[in-house]
Amino acid sequence: LPSQAPRRIKPLDPDVVNKIAAGEIIVAPMNALKEMMENSIDAGSTALEILVKEGGLKLLQITDNGHGIEVGLSSWTDPTADLNKKDDLPILCERFTTSKLKAFDDLLSIGTYGFRGEALASISHIAHLKVTTKTAGSSCAWQAFYQDGKLIPAKPGQTPDPKPTAGRPGTQITVEDLFYNIPNRRRAFRSPSEEYAKILDVVTRYAVHCEHVAFSIKKHGEAGAGFSVAAAASKIDRIKQAYGAAVAKELIEFKTENEKWGFKASGYCSNANHSAKRTTVLLFINNRSVESSAVKKAIEQAYQLFLPKGGHPFIYLSLDIDPARVDVNVHPTKREVHFLSEDEIIDLVCVEIRERLTQVDTSRTFKTQT
Ligand code: ADP
Ligand code: MG
Repeated sequence: LPSQAPRRIKPLDPDVVNKIAAGEIIVAPMNALKEMMENSIDAGSTALEILVKEGGLKLLQITDNGHGIEVGLSSWTDPTADLNKKDDLPILCERFTTSKLKAFDDLLSIGTYGFRGEALASISHIAHLKVTTKTAGSSCAWQAFYQDGKLIPAKPGQTPDPKPTAGRPGTQITVEDLFYNIPNRRRAFRSPSEEYAKILDVVTRYAVHCEHVAFSIKKHGEAGAGFSVAAAASKIDRIKQAYGAAVAKELIEFKTENEKWGFKASGYCSNANHSAKRTTVLLFINNRSVESSAVKKAIEQAYQLFLPKGGHPFIYLSLDIDPARVDVNVHPTKREVHFLSEDEIIDLVCVEIRERLTQVDTSRTFKTQT
C-alpha cells in the first residue's frame, strides 16, 4: 500500500541535474555534431573533416582548420592568478562559458551560430571528450580531456592540465561513448545506420549552405569519404554532391528582400520538371539550419499548380532576418526558431518562388510553340 505520509522534497544531485540538462540539448549524436560543426564554422574554418563510428555513438570526431582555442597557459600555471580570469581551455567545458555572448542584449544581435556556451559542457557530462587545438600564435598544439565540465587527467596518476602535443592549426574534438552514463538513452538507439543517416543529413545541409568551406565525412574503417565537397565547389555543385545530379540540373535561383519586414531571402528551388516523392527543405535562418513546418507547408502549397499530384519540390532557402526579430531561444536543441511576422515573410518568399516558376513555365511553353 502506498504510504499516506507526504514524500519529502529534496534537491536533485547536481550531477543528475547536469545530465538531465545535457540530455535535453544532445538528444542524439547528430545534435552533438551540429553544435561542433557550428563551432568550427564560427572559428572561421575552411575545411571540416568528420569521422563517425557506430552512428556517432562510439566515436564522433571533427577536425577543423579554424582559429583554435587559446590555452590561457599563464593563467592556469600561475597559482597566484585570479581564478576568475582563467581562460580558455580550462573553462572550455564549464556551462555558460562562451566567447560569443557577453550580455543578454547580445542575444539580439548575435551573428555567430551557437551562443549559450552549453554545447561542449553538455557533451562533457554525457560522453568522453578530448580536445586538441592550436592557434596561429602557438608553437605547439595542446590536448585536454574533460568530464563533467572539468579538465581530467588523460590517464590515472597524471595531472589534469592540458599537455603540449604536435598538431596542425585548428581544433579537433573527439567525442567517445556518447550517453555511456545514461543507459536508458543509450539503449534507445537501435540502429547506428539510422543515426549515421541523421548525421549525414545535417552535414550535407551545412555543406550546401557554407560556401568556401570543404566538408568530408567518413565512417571509421572505410577507405573513402561517405560524402565530400571541395572548398571551391559552387552552390549548384554542392547541391549536386549532396542531393544528386537529377535535382541539381532542375534548379532556379531566387532572391527577394523587404525592408518593412526586415528580411533578405535567397536560394534555389526546383522547377516543374523535378517531382520527388517527398519535399526537401533546407532552411537556414541567420546561417543556422532550422526546421519550420510553416515554411514547408507554404512551399508545398506554392508548388501545387506546378507539380503533378503527389509530386514534391526541393528547396534551399537562406533567410536573413533582423536578429532582433528572431527568437533563437525557444527550444533546447535550437531547431525550432520563431520570428516576428512569420506569415508575411513566408508569403513574400512564396510569391517570389511562384513568380519564378511561372516565368520558367511560360518560357518553356513559348519555346515549344516556336
Ligand atoms: P558557444 O558556441 O555557445 O560559445 P560551446 O560550448 O559550443 O558554446 O563552445 C564554447 C567555446 O569554445 C566557444 O565560444 C569557442 O570560443 C570555443 N570553441 C568551441 N569549439 C571551437 C572550435 N572548433 N574552434 C575554436 N573555438 C572553439
Ligand atoms: Mg557552440
